[in-house]
Amino acid sequence: MAKNMKINITKTTTPKEKPTGTLGFGRNFTDHMFIMNYTEGTGWHDARIVPHGDLSFSPACAALHYGQETFEGMKAYRGRDGSCYLFRPEMNARRSNYSNSRVCIPEFPEADYIEAVKTLVTLDADWIPSAENSSLYIRPFFFADDPFLGVAVSKTYQFIIIMSPADAYFGAFEPVSIFVEDEYVRAVKGGTGRAKTGGNYAASHPALLRAQEHGCAQAMWLDGIERKYIEEVGTMNIFFKIDGKIVTPALNESILAGITRDSVLTLCRDFGLTVGERPLSIDELVEIADAGKLEEVFGTGTAVVVAPVNRLLYKGKEILVGDGNEGETSRRLYETLTSIQRGDFEDKFNWRVSL
Ligand SMILES: *Cc1c(COP(=O)(O)O)cnc(C)c1O
Repeated sequence: MAKNMKINITKTTTPKEKPTGTLGFGRNFTDHMFIMNYTEGTGWHDARIVPHGDLSFSPACAALHYGQETFEGMKAYRGRDGSCYLFRPEMNARRSNYSNSRVCIPEFPEADYIEAVKTLVTLDADWIPSAENSSLYIRPFFFADDPFLGVAVSKTYQFIIIMSPADAYFGAFEPVSIFVEDEYVRAVKGGTGRAKTGGNYAASHPALLRAQEHGCAQAMWLDGIERKYIEEVGTMNIFFKIDGKIVTPALNESILAGITRDSVLTLCRDFGLTVGERPLSIDELVEIADAGKLEEVFGTGTAVVVAPVNRLLYKGKEILVGDGNEGETSRRLYETLTSIQRGDFEDKFNWRVSL
């Protein structure tokens, strides 16, 4: 099914005012949304774009009770000449199917996924902000909507895409502090850590609150068995610059394979830096910092792009990074990546998709 998906478009008769001033993140929504349904036997059907608005479903809806849902995060960018771009959308389509397979949501054709995103972004293109570092955040998500309280794989689903104009996620490109979480874990081998599914985030909330109580922006996750190996930070992948070399934890079942992570690895190699994907323990990191070799730490993700870290808090001990300012590599990565995304730099790796 869904080959040559036909999208039925109902345009809003009451377009909203565009927000002015600070956009923040995920607060304002564009005029339209994409919806498609799945029914066992029929497959995916009724692709449509309708005015953005509230949904109506049974209070017994399966996703509300047992968390059978997945999501993605991607962005559309406005170039200086007015053109609009997506960034590596085929990676989101593919990862979405990985996430879906992990929680038994039916596969969605990747070409149709990209088509749905492109059609919606094109319709609401005047919502793509043009200010420096701003973009249109795109949130595709799937959820089980069987009105049934039995614990079972749902027979019906919805695929929805909503969009929200956003400016930089953490405000300015300013280094943040990170709390190294040594009690709660985000993901375990055999679990759902590699899938973008809601339950992972609900379970991470207590650690976020604890990090914030300590004046930190995010929690750093250690592995679920020994609480020893560094995995991620908040909802970002994590990178270190140690003695001139770039190190990031090697992917495993409990680390989410970020598209920004993949892009940053490619750019670092292109910059001529030595890059290592390997297990890195928190004890090794403490030793490296004590020896004065921890030059940079930064998180990567679609929302933030690159987020520099200047301080880690682990078991009451402060680990300081470099000289406390944003590092030259994180700054260069941020500028290169956002310039490729906005169309200012040559698209050497074929990452941009024009609309
Ligand atoms: C989405 C996400 C990332 C970053 O992935 P990108 O594709 O770079 O946006 C990293 N870690 C977690 C846990 C995530 O949910």
